[in-house]
Amino acid sequence: MKLLKDKNILVMGVANKWSIAWAIAEQMYQAGAKITFSYFGDRSLRSLEKLTEDMKDVTFVECDVTEDKNIENTFAYLKEKFGVIHGVAHCIAHSKSDELKGKFYDTSREGYAMSHDVSVYSLIAVTKYARPLMTEGGVIITLTYYGGEKVIANYNVMGVAKAALDSSVKYLAFDLGKENIRVNAISAGPIRTLAGKGISNFDQMLKAFETKSPMGRLVDPVEVGKTALFLMSDLSSGITGEIIHVDCGYNIIGM
Ligand code: NAD
Repeated sequence: MKLLKDKNILVMGVANKWSIAWAIAEQMYQAGAKITFSYFGDRSLRSLEKLTEDMKDVTFVECDVTEDKNIENTFAYLKEKFGVIHGVAHCIAHSKSDELKGKFYDTSREGYAMSHDVSVYSLIAVTKYARPLMTEGGVIITLTYYGGEKVIANYNVMGVAKAALDSSVKYLAFDLGKENIRVNAISAGPIRTLAGKGISNFDQMLKAFETKSPMGRLVDPVEVGKTALFLMSDLSSGITGEIIHVDCGYNIIGM
């Protein structure tokens, strides 16, 4: 039996084949989901069209999450097309690369606001508009990183944004639990993606991770995709407000 048969799922944040959102979408598609992709910019749309050439029943909708109107339009489109949705994978974050190096105290007011707007507030706004369409219950997942729990050099303002994202997951889970809408996050180990490469000394981060993690290797995006599938499916029906680490155990290490 396919775990997501007849489920309508929105995947937000595929920029290219390296995007974690793509690994998530592939797992969900194989599990029978009907996937709508929201994209940011024409370049992402072109990548998506190529990537999904062999997929059936996929649709695309443009959504820059910095405007409420765009989010509202995205869900109006989904309502018209499907009536009901069952899941959203929010895989979006952004910060200027200038902010992802040097001292945290040099974070600009504008950079702080922008990182939080795109990477945190968007989850709150997306949840607000997704909720009325989740009439059969639903699941919202987002992607976070260990730099929100502990200091990771250069991660700076994005670490603070991830801490806010982790907390938002819990508040949203509290709001929506009785409506059978679950909200969870996956804390992925470092993966070479467009967003990852924006972090200064990212290669060093990968090396340290590989050396110190109990499993002695990097995380494969497919592993994040499989955990997303678990969270999206009924297999995780009792789990909400949780941050699941898919990091080869890195977060358990003290020294
Ligand atoms: P990515 O660059 O492939 O994905 C980031 C996505 O955010 C892109 O699709 C981009 O178009 C989208 N985005 C940026 N600004 C947007 C806006 N205004 N409106 C709509 N979309 C916008 O990189 P990724 O690593 O796959 O990132 C996905 C998520 O995973 C992010 O939240 C990231 O912080 C998180 N994450 C990444 C890693 C890693 O090491 N790569 C580790 C843990 C968590």
